[in-house]
Amino acid sequence: MSLIIITRRNEITSYIQKQKKLNPALRIGFVPTMGALHGGHGSLLKKSSLENDLTVLSIFVNPKQFGPQEDLSKYPRQFKQDCEIALSYGAQVVFAPTVEEMYPQGFSTQISVSKITNFMCGKVRPGHFEGVATVVMLLLNLTQADTAYFGQKDFQQVHVVKRMCLDLACAAKISMEETIREPDGLAMSSRNVYLSPEARKIASLVPQALASVAKKYLSGERASQKLIADAAEILKTKNLTPQYLEIRKTEDLSQQVYEQITEESVLTIAQMIPSAERPVRLIDNIILSEDSRWICVLEELIKNVQVSGNQLQ
Ligand code: AMP
Repeated sequence: MSLIIITRRNEITSYIQKQKKLNPALRIGFVPTMGALHGGHGSLLKKSSLENDLTVLSIFVNPKQFGPQEDLSKYPRQFKQDCEIALSYGAQVVFAPTVEEMYPQGFSTQISVSKITNFMCGKVRPGHFEGVATVVMLLLNLTQADTAYFGQKDFQQVHVVKRMCLDLACAAKISMEETIREPDGLAMSSRNVYLSPEARKIASLVPQALASVAKKYLSGERASQKLIADAAEILKTKNLTPQYLEIRKTEDLSQQVYEQITEESVLTIAQMIPSAERPVRLIDNIILSEDSRWICVLEELIKNVQVSGNQLQ
């Protein structure tokens, strides 16, 4: 099997049209990424190739979703290695345009999804979700995807994209896949390479905090403030103060849970980790639910954090 690499907007469109002509029932799965692929991206590609006839991966470091003080120019780029990884996880096409190709001169459209972007990452990173929504809609149009796969790690992003597709009658189904973690529970991320060895140790406090909350939740604790305080205390052992640490309803992310958790909720966290060169921003979350699927995920996280030698209370 070989990988088809496409860099032009009109070429991806004509390639997809041609494939659809050859097989009108062709199911197209799409995985949008910014490259520097890891196991998290791999699991999305694997799921897509299981469920579709054709899997398209996009690699595009989208300047529109970075703020002026953010790490756009430093974002890791490793195209050749990415292609090898993509192929090994079942991708058939890589769409890797330049910025000028994606946003040619005169490009003037911006998609803004309101309400759901007023808090969490939307608040901390002004303009971020406009950049995400605009590029995702453009990519969905170019790839004609039947299903697009996103990671649970970026929980708010999935919900922004779902809202946009619903509002704008975009036919693509948006599928959210579980967060893939390192052995100690740290969520895989392209930015993890910037953690110095010392910072990497500090970063493991994030999954430790999540695992501690998971343990308390599974033992019956439902008081939102107690669970949040528990996570905050663990982070405080290394003087970490999260950008946000909140519990929200999964049904409607705009609803924060201040008292008892009575419906499926998500504990979300954004944490800057000081590191040698510059701080690394991590985001993560766990779903607090009575559903056996999510209980299994929580149990797995608790086990991994424990096995890696960390002490949970
Ligand atoms: P990125 O390249 O960071 O923009 O991520 C591309 C896609 O991969 C997004 O849908 C992310 O949510 C997803 N992703 C990133 N990290 C993980 C992970 N650890 N597990 C599962 N999906 C992930």
